[in-house]
Order: sequence, then C-alpha cells, then structure tokens
Amino acid sequence: MKPEEIRHHIDTPLFRTISKAASDYGVSAFIVGGYVRDLILDRESKDIDIVVDGSGIDFAHFLSERLQGTKVNYFKNFGTAMFRHNDIEYELVGARKESYKRDSRKPIVEDGTLEEDRERRDFTINALSISLDEKAFGEVIDPFGGIQHITEKLLVTPLEPAITYSDDPLRMMRAIRFASQLGFRIEDRSFEAIKSQKDRIKIVSQERITDELNKIILSDKPSVGFKLLNTTGILELIFPKFTQLQGVEVRKGIGHKDNFYHTLKVLDNVADRSNDLWLRWAAILHDIAKPDTKQFDKKSGWTFHGHEDLGAKLTPGIFRGLKLPMDQKMKFVQKLVRLHLRPISLSKKEVSDSGIRRLLFDAGEDLDSLMILCESDITSKNEVKVKKFLGNFQRVRLKCKEVEESDKIKNWQPPIGGEEIMNTFGLKPGREVGIIKTAIREAILEGEIKNEYEAAKGLMMQKAQELGLREPNNI
Ligand code: ATP
Ligand code: MG
Repeated sequence: MKPEEIRHHIDTPLFRTISKAASDYGVSAFIVGGYVRDLILDRESKDIDIVVDGSGIDFAHFLSERLQGTKVNYFKNFGTAMFRHNDIEYELVGARKESYKRDSRKPIVEDGTLEEDRERRDFTINALSISLDEKAFGEVIDPFGGIQHITEKLLVTPLEPAITYSDDPLRMMRAIRFASQLGFRIEDRSFEAIKSQKDRIKIVSQERITDELNKIILSDKPSVGFKLLNTTGILELIFPKFTQLQGVEVRKGIGHKDNFYHTLKVLDNVADRSNDLWLRWAAILHDIAKPDTKQFDKKSGWTFHGHEDLGAKLTPGIFRGLKLPMDQKMKFVQKLVRLHLRPISLSKKEVSDSGIRRLLFDAGEDLDSLMILCESDITSKNEVKVKKFLGNFQRVRLKCKEVEESDKIKNWQPPIGGEEIMNTFGLKPGREVGIIKTAIREAILEGEIKNEYEAAKGLMMQKAQELGLREPNNI
C-alpha cells in the first residue's frame, strides 16, 4: 500500500474514536511499529500498537468509556493496556525511552518523548508511525527513512548498529528473522555489527532465541535465515550441533556432500510443500547424526550407518536444549527422523506388501508427513534422477494406499494384546509378554500368519511353549 493510501485505510470508526478521545484527553496518539510496516508491505498483522505522549494506562481508562462492550485489560507493571476488537489485539502504551545495562537485555524504562520512543526501535522500517491526531489524521511519520528502506528491501538501524545490537542482542535474531521473513537485506554496517556483537546473544533467554528461530523456520525460504545465522557466527552459539554438518571431507579422491547445505535445501523443499513447523524441524534434524556416524571404507566410500536411529536418539536432547516442547511434537519429529530412510529403501526394490505394512504400522497417521520429508530429501541437481526418485515415491504412496485400504494397518492393533497374554498364562507385565506380543505383531506384518484371532492365538501358544510357559488351569 502506498503511504498516501494509508489515511483512507485507517479511517475506521474505531481509529476515529481513539483519535477523538486523544484530542479530548489532550494527548497525541500514533499507530506505531510492525503494523505500519506491514500495511505498507501489504502483509496481514494481528496486533496493533498505539503510543501516546503521556500515560498509556490513564488514557486507556479514558478511552474505555467510549468503547462500550469492549473489555480493556491493564498491565500496571508494564504500563500497557490491551483490548481486542474484530479479532485484532490493540496495545496502548505511553511514549518511553530506554537505557541498557551491560548484563541484561531488559532496559531501564522511563517516560520519554515521541522522538525518544522512535529512536528506541530496532529498525527504520519498524520506527514508522501513523498520526491519529485529528488535524493530521493518517499522516505517516518516517523519521529515519523507513519507507525508502522498504522499497530498497533494506534493514537499517535508526542509531549506531553496534550499540543497537549490544544494547539488546535479541535484535540480531530479529534482523535475521526479518531478512528471512520479508526477503530483505541486512545493510552492510549492520551485518558487520552483528558479527562483532554476536557473543552478546548469551544474555538473551533461550525462549526468545527459539521464538525467533521458529519464525525463521516458518518463513518462505528458511535457508536464507540459517545462512545468515551461520555467516554471522550466531548459529555456532545457539545451535552448534547444526553447524557441525558443514564441510566436505575427501579421501582417496572420494568426497561426500556437504550435509549442512543439503539439509538447508531439504528444509526449503519442505517449506515449499508444508507450513507445519514440526515437519520443518524434522527436515532440520533428519541428518543431524551424520557427523557422528561417518565412516570411510575402501569399498563403499563414505557411509553414515545408523544416522537415522542416532538422530532420533539425539532429538529429545536437542529439543530440551532449545526449550522446544517435549510433548507429542517432539515425538513426531523423532519418529520422522528415525523413519526417514524407510520409504527410500522401499522404493529401490520391488515393493513388497510386508515392507509397506511395516511402514504403515510404524508411521501410522504421520505417513503423509514422512513422504513429504522423503520427497524433499531429493536434492540432486540431475533432473532425470529427481524425476525418477519422485516417481518411485509416488509408487510407494500408491502401494501404501492400496495396502491400507485392504489391511487397515494405520490404527491397527494385533488381535491379541498384552492383557490377554498375561491372563492366559497368569503373568505380570514383563519380558515374556513383550516377546510374545512382538512375535504376533511381526508375524502378521510379515504376512506369515493371517491378521485373525485364531492364527494369533496359535502363535501365542507356540511361543509360550518355547518360553516354557503353561496355562495356569492346565497345571
Ligand atoms: P512481528 O509482530 O511480526 O513479530 P513486530 O516488528 O511487530 O514483528 P513486535 O514484537 O510485535 O514485532 O514489536 C512491535 C514493535 O516494537 C516493533 O515493530 C518495533 O518497533 C518494536 N520492537 C519490538 N522488539 C524490539 C526490540 N527488541 N528492540 C527494539 N524495538 C523493538
Ligand atoms: Mg507485531
């Protein structure tokens, strides 16, 4: 949207009400920050920040009487007030200035002028504001050339970059996040400053770092953000395990691919196919254990045997370290990492029903996500190869559909479970129950016995005999 169209766009009853209230109360009010930036960029935003030159809370009390039916929440400690209107969150705050201590990114906040409030913002494109004054309604205030920088797609700090990043090092993550999310370039001086201030990231909480990291991962082309994190040296500090994927070793003239850039390509490929943050995390971690499992032997060259299992084992620790959720989402990522080679091995040979049943059983509801990961894992530059591999996966998908339709494996439970085994032989939970359960499941998945009660019972009895178990009423 062009700046001159903004006035018309914000000419809504709510903004007019705020404008009139500000005038009657004797303060100036401005829409500030991300909302203004996103309006010019034609991006949707769900939160609107409003700054007044006075107390945000006092003005909010005054305004609330004119917003009948809208509940205003007050946060005295932060000096902010919030309300929701048409699914958009409005935050009211007084203009402030900030000063920083060396060991904390939390500033000492004092009331300030509107100018000081604009200077404390991280980028010129985030320092834009729109006047809600009755006389200047809809006028865009652009103290640092933010509009020009939007057209140039440039991230520039309003003040000296090194100080800006040192004061609040989260801004380094934000710079890289905006670069990835908006497709902007970080201005050279800023880029150099991030490199020199990178160690300051240690005063930022893990939660905030991860929050920005996830926003980078959710951008259209996450590799942009990761490459910047890498070249600035920040990635090494916040996610060293990932940087260890970098590099190519050559022995006897044989090299392997650079797993860092391969992984980033896989991540971009997944991003083209899915917006699921956790599927994107599975892409990031699918080869994470390659450096730990790398071996060279004269016959087969470079191998990474077992990297999928070790990768799955490492996943919880990585999640914990990054303060990512340890719930089903982690389990999902772990499962995909563990299974990411399975469809490939199935697509190479003639696909057997038992292999497909096993895949359906292990992947369950996440089969489609797994197939997306596998298709994204094809990063060859040879188009003929890519076509061939994609075709193979298409066959696996089709076969999965057929087998699922006839055998219903996804939510399948074997006809005899642990409970029945324990009751039959008077057992407590333990090793023997596990052995029999597994034998039944495996035999059915392999197609050795039918997926039926009687067949399963026969095998249960046979296994029990091998284990020396007796039915209690037969003793
Ligand atoms: P998004 O909402 O997409 O995360 P945003 O820029 O709106 O992006 P918010 O966290 O909503 O980010 O912050 C609103 C505004 O507050 C920003 O546009 C910016 O002007 C200012 N701001 C936020 N965080 C910082 C920071 N760490 N340093 C300086 N200014 C900041
Ligand atoms: Mg915002």
